[in-house]
Amino acid sequence: MARDLAIDLGTANTLVYMKGRGIVLNEPSVIALNRQTGEVLATGREAWQMIGRTPGYIVAVRPLRGGAITDFEITERMIRLLLQRVGVSRFTRPKVVICVPSAITEVERRAVTDAARRAGAADANLIEQPMAAAIGADLPIDEPVGNMVIDIGGGTSETAVISLGGIVSLEAVRVGSFDIDAAIQNHVRREHGIAIGERTAEEIKIQMGSAWPLEEEPTADIRGRDLISGLPRTIQVTTEHIREALAEPINAIIDAVKTTLDKTPPELAADIMQDGIMLTGGGALLGGLDERLAHETGMPIRVAAEPLYSVVIGSGRALENIDAMRGLMSLGGEN
Ligand code: ADP
Ligand code: MG
Repeated sequence: MARDLAIDLGTANTLVYMKGRGIVLNEPSVIALNRQTGEVLATGREAWQMIGRTPGYIVAVRPLRGGAITDFEITERMIRLLLQRVGVSRFTRPKVVICVPSAITEVERRAVTDAARRAGAADANLIEQPMAAAIGADLPIDEPVGNMVIDIGGGTSETAVISLGGIVSLEAVRVGSFDIDAAIQNHVRREHGIAIGERTAEEIKIQMGSAWPLEEEPTADIRGRDLISGLPRTIQVTTEHIREALAEPINAIIDAVKTTLDKTPPELAADIMQDGIMLTGGGALLGGLDERLAHETGMPIRVAAEPLYSVVIGSGRALENIDAMRGLMSLGGEN
């Protein structure tokens, strides 16, 4: 029997919603390959464990990392394996709604829907990421009011104003949480002379990263490899220094938000002034980002109840109401 699916194919995480069941898969968008033979060694969490730990012949990649598909073949294999894992085959033929970053091109969109069909989907539709995020965060997108949503993922940040079921203004930039991790890596390299991996940088961000002064400003010990001696060394960093290190990517995200507001018609801007801006995506969890955005835009900011799930939940709702929503939300892709 066909179990229809909604997929959030994120730059950092892939989530799958199954009709009537809810979220059935939530894993990093990572695939590990044998560099020589091209054989797939692992996907998801297992492949993620390998990042920064692989011997020369294994490569662990995030094929959507920058919000663009760098390797069609690898992306296609990832989609195929993903669908297999949730039970899709040529015999089950489910309907599939897929949410991809808005920044990807027409050719890339086609590659995603083709891959899903080749893996056995009977019908593959795309939904715009900020639209899915807004639906998942319970915004009244089909009413004649301005709804604003910011989705901060790993490789991209998307800001949109939605009214009457359509996107009025959209700004998608290829800056996101991965750039925040990279800024932490660069900071400790430059200021302390030690090298840390991207997973360590991410842990530091989650534990003490911030975009606005926090109530408590902890200090942390970071262990890395001394760039000169090559030996392990522990350094101490302060919350304030980490915050300074993050300024560049955070400012780029804030600029994109301001650009979207600039492009918003005045009536809708007045609605947003009243109802506020909804923050979704894993980046929404960065300490003090809501306060920083409130300060920079003068708008009230709300963080979605479960920002890492907003997109998959919204895509799932689109799937549950696919016939009603097809026109309303211009679910792209051909059938
Ligand atoms: P994508 O949709 O692009 O796959 P996600 O919305 O899943 O991205 O967000 C993933 C990003 O969110 C990761 O870079 C992760 O480090 C970041 N993230 C997750 N939890 C937190 C947190 N508590 N604080 C800051 N960043 C977080
Ligand atoms: Mg996302």
